[in-house]
Amino acid sequence: MILKPNEIKIKVDGFLDLVRQRNGHEPEFLQAVEEVAETVIPYIIQNDIYHGKNILLRMVEPERAIMFRVNWVDDDGEIQVNRGYRVQMNSAIGPYKGGLRFHPSVNMSILKFLAFEQVFKNSLTTLPMGGGKGGSDFDPKGKSDNEIMRFCHAFMSELFRHIGPNTDVPAGDIGVGGREIGFLFGMYKKLQNEFTGVLTGKGMTWGGSLIRPEATGYGTVYFAEKMLQTKGDSIKGKTVCISGSGNVAQYAAEKIIQLGGKVITLSDSSGYILDSDGINKEKLAFVMDLKNNKRGRISAYVDTYTNAQFFANKTPWEQACDVAMPCATQNELSGSAAETLLKNGCTCVSEGANMPSTKAAVAIFQKARILFAPGKASNAGGVATSGLEMTQNSLRYNWSREEVDEKLKDIMGNIHDKCIAYGKDEKTGYIDYVKGANIAGFVKVADAMLAQGVV
Ligand code: NDP
Repeated sequence: MILKPNEIKIKVDGFLDLVRQRNGHEPEFLQAVEEVAETVIPYIIQNDIYHGKNILLRMVEPERAIMFRVNWVDDDGEIQVNRGYRVQMNSAIGPYKGGLRFHPSVNMSILKFLAFEQVFKNSLTTLPMGGGKGGSDFDPKGKSDNEIMRFCHAFMSELFRHIGPNTDVPAGDIGVGGREIGFLFGMYKKLQNEFTGVLTGKGMTWGGSLIRPEATGYGTVYFAEKMLQTKGDSIKGKTVCISGSGNVAQYAAEKIIQLGGKVITLSDSSGYILDSDGINKEKLAFVMDLKNNKRGRISAYVDTYTNAQFFANKTPWEQACDVAMPCATQNELSGSAAETLLKNGCTCVSEGANMPSTKAAVAIFQKARILFAPGKASNAGGVATSGLEMTQNSLRYNWSREEVDEKLKDIMGNIHDKCIAYGKDEKTGYIDYVKGANIAGFVKVADAMLAQGVV
């Protein structure tokens, strides 16, 4: 079907009005759906096989969303009550797969947005994984190891009945790292009385995969390198601003340093540090110890490295850089931050976090025609390596570090190729990575849904 631009707009608006009516109280979810609808609906209109099947309407509705009570006892003997969730969004191409987030901001809107993005991301990896996401409004900050263990055990004592190696395989996300995955796995194993690959991000001695901790950060850098290569350029010699100082940020920084770039910022929710000399390998090891073992704040960096500065309650985007990598959380890079980045010469943005750029920021990057990769493409290395962990669990075999890293690089390269296939404007040569990722992700899931009928 050929429609004029205003007719396409009417179709997109009509669809979004319906989604807004049903989910008006879920702003993050609506933001994620809007971005997909604006690129995918025009594609549906051009491709007859997707007409009249309400395929996108089916994709925005979770197959199942579970909310449950999590009771646990803190170190003072007080009973605490949190909310647990699992959103099982789409299983057309494989078991639900996606992380668990423990953060006070967690609610249904945030988890539905993350689960929806996950469906497209997992499809892009080419691995057989559907999309899901879960978590709790539990705040791990300031909790003792014992409290974390009791909470994880209580959380899994309900979640276990909804997941399984062929049903739903959760992983980590904000606030859920190796320690939490260990406690969650321990309780699952006890309750089910079986040792199985039901979680990814496991420790190396009990079913984990080499490179899984590094994969999201490394993959985001591999994707940036691919984008720069389209301009005959590379990471080498580039100044890079990274936000966050958790799992994704740490390994993005490590890979940038390995490839000869200079990382000048890291952050957490209290502010950011600027080290104009560059955060080298030794300084990054300090950050990893500070955040992963001592569970400290990023501001402590400037006590040790006194040439660096700490900017409280600010984000790193006011610093001049060639490449920006938002690796903390959603909507952390605003429209005005995007303007500042462009003014200061930034030409490449590779998202490590999920939806870290606001809608206004994305529009500004795209209007300026800089290299911009949405998280669902550039941060897919994490879930891809989780998929590789599932494969190794099934094979009861471990690949070497080099083997997994090679596969990760290949997958990121393939995702980049798909973004070009569906997102490159042949006339201008501009690659719209948002459009490319959305359509490529959509096609595989939609085709599977059509083949499976109305279920
Ligand atoms: P971590 O918990 O390891 O680190 C999160 C980092 O982001 C911390 O530095 C944290 O600071 C900061 N942060 C969290 N919330 C906020 C906020 N509201 N404002 C400012 N800073 C904040 O999480 P990950 O590194 O695993 O995840 C980071 C992002 O990457 C998330 O968007 C996640 O969904 C995404 N992602 C993660 C994957 C993975 O494999 N882990 C895979 C794909 C995407 P503080 O300590 O102060 O809270």
